[in-house]
Amino acid sequence: MNHLTPVNDFDDIISADRSHVWHHLTQHKAHETADPRIMVEGKGMRVWDATGREYLDAVSGGVWTVNVGYGRASIGQAINDQVTKLNFFAQNAGSVPGAVFAQKLIERMPGMSRVYYVNSGSEANEKAFKMVRQIAQKRYGGKKHKILYRERDYHGSTISTISAGGQYERNAHYGPYTPGFVQVPHCLEYRAQWDVEDYGRAAADAIEEVILREGPETVGALCLETVTAGGGVITPPKGYWQRVQEICRKHDILLHLDEVVCGIGRTGKWFGYQHYGIQPDLVTMAKGVASGYAAIACLVTTEAVFEMFKDDASDPLGFFRDISTYGGCTAGPAAALENMRIIEEEGLLENTQAMGARLMENLHTLKDRHDAVGDVRGLGLFCGAELVSDRDSKEPAPEAKVQAVIAECMAQGVIIGATARAITGYNNTLCLAPALIATAQDIDAITDAIDIALTRVFG
Ligand code: PMP
Repeated sequence: MNHLTPVNDFDDIISADRSHVWHHLTQHKAHETADPRIMVEGKGMRVWDATGREYLDAVSGGVWTVNVGYGRASIGQAINDQVTKLNFFAQNAGSVPGAVFAQKLIERMPGMSRVYYVNSGSEANEKAFKMVRQIAQKRYGGKKHKILYRERDYHGSTISTISAGGQYERNAHYGPYTPGFVQVPHCLEYRAQWDVEDYGRAAADAIEEVILREGPETVGALCLETVTAGGGVITPPKGYWQRVQEICRKHDILLHLDEVVCGIGRTGKWFGYQHYGIQPDLVTMAKGVASGYAAIACLVTTEAVFEMFKDDASDPLGFFRDISTYGGCTAGPAAALENMRIIEEEGLLENTQAMGARLMENLHTLKDRHDAVGDVRGLGLFCGAELVSDRDSKEPAPEAKVQAVIAECMAQGVIIGATARAITGYNNTLCLAPALIATAQDIDAITDAIDIALTRVFG
């Protein structure tokens, strides 16, 4: 199909969608009344809806996923070649693309060693929590079972990942939660919680306070997003990560980094934590692993973590007794391998660094031009602009205005996002995460559209 050709039976599709699809994160009444947007084709940075309308996508498929851009025939070919040979096998067996991708991934993650294949970010985080719990059971008599998570972070949609979720409204209706998850404060300097010179140290020390309050002998892991994504694109303050790592080592606590968004090039390095010279124990990744061409996520651990599960082979609990059926699909690692080749051969890490710098520069210009922009933050092609009603008080801009900015961009054919609506009082950050192939023209078109939208909405 040509992307300029409208879908003929569009009304039927709308009707089927309205009657039978339960959309993610959508107000049901709005779905009944407004026409659902149905995307039908994509190429590079652009997507086309069923009416033939073209959009420049500044959020990589809405949720920061399509890192290498749309319409990659070579990924389709790699999936096709693999699944027509062997699509699936999961009983105690590996696969060719699974082994090759694991090796290539580990080569890009010095200090890490083992790859556990699953399907989604939530699942990868769940598995990490299970590992921490099993280590607590087997090595610490059940004591070191608590998992610390951070205010404003998000780790997934399942009951245990929302139990580790720092975004109140996403969790509000789903208690009782899984026990043993304890919250630590966020580290966003713009909304500082401590009046100190060394903010990074203060924010990290606040984590240690929680550890000491709970008792270090009860805390097994600290699970943090390297850069908080939906909670407001929160880049860590200077010195934060070094101090966090020190605290974890001091108290024998595993550092679990959620790189579901940051991983696979989004920040201009393979992984976000590689900007900070730290060494995690567990890393989870999903979205960019295969850029949305296949459902694949990974939990990567050090050899030391793996070793903790290696017991006498006769012990029925002497290993990680866990399975993920579709962790046996070969389409995922086949797509991930080609995705990785593209990132490397097209120099997309370097492009992300250059275009990320340009995007930040443009956002600073927007901040100079518009009082409504209170703060801009970002790392690579993962940026946010926090909107406020008043610069001095930092009163967050009302959600209606933030949504109006998004709608005004959409009216100009540019898709941008905003902080998860779920965070009371903090749904005010515009989120930008274009594909890693973005050109200078794309970046400027995105910020030009935001410039116009801000003028229309805030004057
Ligand atoms: N962690 C982070 C940081 C995320 O942003 C997300 C998804 N937005 C998840 C975990 C959950 O991933 P999934 O939706 O694939 O379960």
